[in-house]
Amino acid sequence: MEGRYFYTKIREDIWQIEEDDGVCCTLIKGRDMAVLVDTGYGRRNLRAFVEKEVSTPYLVINSHGHPDHIGGNHWFDTVYALKEEGDVIRHFEGQEKQDYQLKEIGTGEEISLGNMRVRVVPLPGHTKGSIGLLVREEKLLIAGDALNQGLWLFNYGSLSMRELLETLRKTVQLDFDTYLCGHSNREYPKEGIYAHIHNIENLKLDACTKGNTIGFETYCSSYRNNNSHGSGSSHEANWEISDIVFTIDKLKYE
Ligand SMILES: [Zn+2]
Repeated sequence: MEGRYFYTKIREDIWQIEEDDGVCCTLIKGRDMAVLVDTGYGRRNLRAFVEKEVSTPYLVINSHGHPDHIGGNHWFDTVYALKEEGDVIRHFEGQEKQDYQLKEIGTGEEISLGNMRVRVVPLPGHTKGSIGLLVREEKLLIAGDALNQGLWLFNYGSLSMRELLETLRKTVQLDFDTYLCGHSNREYPKEGIYAHIHNIENLKLDACTKGNTIGFETYCSSYRNNNSHGSGSSHEANWEISDIVFTIDKLKYE
């Protein structure tokens, strides 16, 4: 199926591309080089879309190894991910034969796109090898699922609540103003990360909502800061929303 992808221009040359079911990939079109972050479920020919829109060489990078972020890897020849995440990618690819090359990229590496620099930053938690791509000139962090308002901390390869908290505390110290998530075409201000930190620091298991999420027995800890933008009545103004969905084993600290 040829790609009919929809996209939202976050910046003139940074596009949030939407596939089905609200899954987003991000395309950063630099002057001399482009980067595609994630490949969605891959039901459509993402490569055809990228090559129609991009006239430079480009790299494909997985933010992490979940099936809705790596499903289109097979359209490409080479895909990059953090070494730690290779195992997660293989786990979710299962038995299907993949004929692309998975290569390693390291945190701290910086990719020059000519007019922009993109730095690979570690965001372990959602999965052990989750990464973000920090577009330095734009002060924009492309975060995959690592900072989602509804943040999942369960399933193969995910880390503990304590490790997630460490990551969040380090992430707010990075030099950026806004971030993008893998299931939204909106740009979030950094305050959203403080909501997650507040949520975890004050987490009480008996205040969590129990549920079942894709077959896992989960708990959800929620936090809303309704006082932060008090002037208007619009819910849109409130970015300080945190729902962390986890399995009980994530609270076992040694
Ligand atoms: Zn994910």
